[in-house]
Amino acid sequence: SPPFDVNLVRRDFPILQERVNGKQLVWLDNAATTQKPKQVIDRITYFYEHENSNIHRAAHELAARATDAYEGARKKVQNFLNAGSINEIIFVRGATEAINLVAKTWGDQNLVADDEIVVSQLEHHANIVPWQQLAVKKGLKIKVIPVDDDGQIILDEYVKLLGPKTKLVSFTQVSNALGTVTPATQIVHLAHLTGAKVLVDGAQSVSHMPVDVQALNADWFVFSGHKVFGPTGIGVLYGKEELLNQTQPWQGGGNMIKDVTFEYTQYHDAPGRFEAGTGNIADAVGLGAAIDYVTRLGMPVIAQYEHYLLEYATHLIKEVKGIRLIGTAREKASVLSFVLDGYKTEEVGHALNQQGIAVRSGHHCAQPILRRFGVEATVRPSLAFYNTCAEIDLLVNTLHSLKR
Ligand code: PMP
Repeated sequence: SPPFDVNLVRRDFPILQERVNGKQLVWLDNAATTQKPKQVIDRITYFYEHENSNIHRAAHELAARATDAYEGARKKVQNFLNAGSINEIIFVRGATEAINLVAKTWGDQNLVADDEIVVSQLEHHANIVPWQQLAVKKGLKIKVIPVDDDGQIILDEYVKLLGPKTKLVSFTQVSNALGTVTPATQIVHLAHLTGAKVLVDGAQSVSHMPVDVQALNADWFVFSGHKVFGPTGIGVLYGKEELLNQTQPWQGGGNMIKDVTFEYTQYHDAPGRFEAGTGNIADAVGLGAAIDYVTRLGMPVIAQYEHYLLEYATHLIKEVKGIRLIGTAREKASVLSFVLDGYKTEEVGHALNQQGIAVRSGHHCAQPILRRFGVEATVRPSLAFYNTCAEIDLLVNTLHSLKR
């Protein structure tokens, strides 16, 4: 396999040198957000120093530079996801906005009373609440795919939920709360057999594994830039081109039109029709730089290293007295989620913070799946490719010392 030198990679991330409570930062909150390599930070600075302009409209040199940078970033996203066309890539604020866009356009325009939406028990609130809002408005039913005791979707139960009224299946490729990697391709295939459309939430998958939207064959795929080493405030909605062009836009304004009179507006085809107003140009360019960065490391190489790290961490953390690991599926990415006997999750988080270790403790915006396991909160270390075995050792030793 190609070489992966974690110490070399770490030098690209200035924040990893930060000190917290007198200790070197150990960033194990990657499921919440990821840190940014210098290449991304520098690219955004370069944009503001040399290219800044609004795009498309003005006919001057900087407008051309900004437009090239922005559309270049769109091309990078297309290649990253292996989308068939650049027109299938819509820039939005993040995964949350992308899901809301689909709910409030396609969902609102196509679903009628008694139609059914299937989600999984693993979903982040971002993939529950927009559908619930739509269900209330339209009189839809939401059905939930249960998971087994390891935190994996039960496919047999999923199949039983599918029927002629199923219009949409919306589920996550990787659970942010447990780390479960769902059998996404199979779930999409089964949904399509019943004629339902499918949205895949890639917020936790794109930073940990290669994603190919054509192989996955979902109708929509969403992710957030900030979880894949890019900036906040920028994310992506991928949608199949024909479907996007059959869907009416939600926001109206500049950039998204071909022609406007007081009587009638003709919209652009995708992606323009869904990008009303001035977008987050600089951060789209920053996302492009983040994609260049992980592409250069190689997503398969990243996946392989992280798999090794997760196995190492899982093996060691199981040895901590009184620990209950939640989410023990065979296929997992990045996340360890646990409760520690005799301690509140925030007490564990605080003790780790004293050692400079950043983890999330709480419900992770995924309350239903935690309740499935009888807890309201967990401690959640989550890994990225810049983490090391030494950092895992520090985490586990701190947990051991708590139990002493
Ligand atoms: N889905 C999943 C699985 C997530 O982990 C997150 C972020 N925690 C989201 C959606 C929402 O992403 P954002 O807050 O960046 O819009």
